[in-house]
Amino acid sequence: MTVKTYTCYVVFQTHWDREWYLPFEVYRHRLTQVIDRIVEGLENNELEQFVLDGQMAALEDYLEVCEPYMEERILSLIKEKKIIIGPWYVLADEFLVSGESLIRNLEIGMKLANKYGESQMVGYLPDTFGHVSQMPQLLKGFGIDNAIAWRGIDSDKSELIWKAPDGSQVLTVFLPEGYYQPVLNEESYQTSMANYVEKVKGFAQTSALLLTNGGDHLMPKHGDMLGKINEISSEEVTFVSSTYEHYLTSLKAELPEDLPVYYGELRSNKHAYVLPNVLSTRTYLKQQNQMMEDELTGYTEPLLTLTASNNYPARYLEESWKLLMKNHPHDSICGCSLDEVHREMETRTMKLGQRLESLQMGALAAAGIQDAAESGHATRKPFEDNTVFTVFNPHVHSYSGPIRGTIWLKEDIDFSLVDEHGQYYQPTILSKRKDRHFASPLDAFPEFTEGTFYEVIFSVEELPATSLTTFRVVEGEYKTLVEMEAGVVDTAFYRINVETDGSLTLEEKTTGRTYKGLQSFYSSLDVGDEYTYSPPKDDIRTFGRLKGNPKVDYSGDVSLLHYTVELEVPAGCREDRTGPVEEKVTTEIQVTVMLTSHSPRIESKVKVLNRAQDQRLRVQFPLGATIEQTYSDTAFDVVKRPAKKIEEFDAPKQKEVPVVVEPSLSFIRAEQNGVGIHFFHRGLQEYQVVPSGKEDILEVTVLRSVGWLSRDDLRTRGGGAGPGMETPEGQCLGTYTFDIAFEPASGCTNGNIAKSAHFYRIPPRIYPGDARGKNLVRLVEIDNKEVQWSALYCSDGEMYLRLWNPTKKEQAFQFSTGQEINTITKVNMDKSELILLNDQSDRLSPKGIANYRLQFS
Ligand SMILES: [Zn+2]
Repeated sequence: MTVKTYTCYVVFQTHWDREWYLPFEVYRHRLTQVIDRIVEGLENNELEQFVLDGQMAALEDYLEVCEPYMEERILSLIKEKKIIIGPWYVLADEFLVSGESLIRNLEIGMKLANKYGESQMVGYLPDTFGHVSQMPQLLKGFGIDNAIAWRGIDSDKSELIWKAPDGSQVLTVFLPEGYYQPVLNEESYQTSMANYVEKVKGFAQTSALLLTNGGDHLMPKHGDMLGKINEISSEEVTFVSSTYEHYLTSLKAELPEDLPVYYGELRSNKHAYVLPNVLSTRTYLKQQNQMMEDELTGYTEPLLTLTASNNYPARYLEESWKLLMKNHPHDSICGCSLDEVHREMETRTMKLGQRLESLQMGALAAAGIQDAAESGHATRKPFEDNTVFTVFNPHVHSYSGPIRGTIWLKEDIDFSLVDEHGQYYQPTILSKRKDRHFASPLDAFPEFTEGTFYEVIFSVEELPATSLTTFRVVEGEYKTLVEMEAGVVDTAFYRINVETDGSLTLEEKTTGRTYKGLQSFYSSLDVGDEYTYSPPKDDIRTFGRLKGNPKVDYSGDVSLLHYTVELEVPAGCREDRTGPVEEKVTTEIQVTVMLTSHSPRIESKVKVLNRAQDQRLRVQFPLGATIEQTYSDTAFDVVKRPAKKIEEFDAPKQKEVPVVVEPSLSFIRAEQNGVGIHFFHRGLQEYQVVPSGKEDILEVTVLRSVGWLSRDDLRTRGGGAGPGMETPEGQCLGTYTFDIAFEPASGCTNGNIAKSAHFYRIPPRIYPGDARGKNLVRLVEIDNKEVQWSALYCSDGEMYLRLWNPTKKEQAFQFSTGQEINTITKVNMDKSELILLNDQSDRLSPKGIANYRLQFS
């Protein structure tokens, strides 16, 4: 009998979490030592090749601080393909960032890699906590036909096919033992290597085995690593120093025809932890990230594309994307690092916010809509007030609904609004304050001007797509809010009142249906860590109670419902972590619910003053029905999942309990036969549906208060997930404000709800200035409302539009524009050309993503 022989491809690598249980600068100093060793090892032929973790940020971090002679050496090793770089910019969490962020991550990562050498064409996802459904389509869009991954995959084979919902597929290598394999750094590497081979060969379907030799922040040990490889080869296993690309080439040559096929998102924790509750750790970070993603792709890029396509600040924007993405690595956006790390993330967010606001104002100046200088030629000068202002609709669909924002006027007057076509609008004034307006022109002394700031809301019909529409303040009357005697909201759509437990009862007028217990808050205990929720044995659940009387303000168009809910909750958990301490504290939640006469959506601003530790605060929406499935959005997809998963609380050693929480980027659709709720949010990305008698309840996590990076005494996870460091700021004490919205289900399509959610996250916005006569009307409009847009931006002097189809049906659509389109070219995500469209129409395949280059004559 012949013995089966194997070739084990040993890929030397390091996994570089840029920040985690140490802050960024400390890790970076360590990086200089690790890279210096790699360079020396490669130059001395102790190593043959080295993979720099599939991300370009680590190389940039090094190049920023290394000595010039080291820069020369590392760049020449990259050119010789001894140091392997790309394709990502950072190793992002896939569920917590937008689909567009994942595309730019590859786009910028590959561009940088190709600048220094050649990008590795490997979909390298070694440590990410589960994978989004569309990842195969994203990789294929950049010409990558494979993935190497670990967490989230439940396969018993190491080679499989992974299919995205549009049918795109990549050959996927599952790492059954994970990427953390510093085998050759060990004293007894011969034995360790034999053990490793023994474990992985049962998964292999060919003679090719893979060893990812290295680990988190590790360098190859000093000494001749190649020599060790040569020494350990046996009759059964030949070890060769290799790269992922070489390994994949050998693997492809021997693959069996019938590889197992996996579809869509991969979140199984059968083989490895997926750490599901990072979806709700430090929700403030998720919220800040989504605000920045919205500013960047929702306003800044489309505004610059509309106004400044000839003078587009491409480099400024690329550097801004990099700043955003430095918050996207799995240990950063997941909130599972040291407090210091997350404070640095907030600083990045603050800096990015300043940049993006400046870029938006720069876009208006470039188009002559408002001037940064007194001596310029724009229609509005720096010290002028907002008697004339513009509304920017960045979407490829027209908009009907409320516009909300702040304008300031030098005079304190009654006024109405009129648009470019002479149409009058009577706004409601939500708030009004006298204050000073500050302006600092480029060419004049900075000054304050006295004025009145009005927070206005008014409803528009068919505000054109991708355009700026100018409004003027004219003599007339606005509406003001008047307090109603009954604390009840009564609109064309609903009658809503607040119960003594702080929940809402809603009567839907069109159906006569009543929903009870909506938007009800409760707190229960959590003795878990930054990765994982874990209730103590002696858990208690506290519901709210209404404090004082609710107040309703009404203007005829707008109703505002104000109320406060209090929860008397345990101050924390006992030292032994089995139950609550005796002491109670009060969590105070101030809610403002807004309804307008033109929209069925119920929008809430929720301000939480949290004084409790070791707890989880959730908001509940009883659905009025039992439901079979939910839908929520992840990167370029609306994913259907079974609604109720059985929850377990005690995990065996080295295992997690089954995953019961689900991810969402901006909406959740929880309904059965038109009964249920559509929920919208910014930053509240974890949800769960729980059964409760005759109906199910949608629960969304608002805050999770945990004081440890990792612990090894959790019920729900049988071991640590990182070092057991204290992270007091993970308790989320203090005040946090969240925006949420909901509406009773109405049997709409996934395309409709995705569009609605996109407008909720990125509403048309008021800017100062006068856009009349600037020809800034309707850059591009898509006539099919099921078709969604993700990006409108310029690159290398060309204009690009990215669309996606959330539905399972092919969608035909027409482009239209206020200008003359010369050509529309369909391109790949990497901008390589596919086809020139013959006319201004196309078809988007089910769940497809499509990219277009638009050229105007
Ligand atoms: Zn990692």
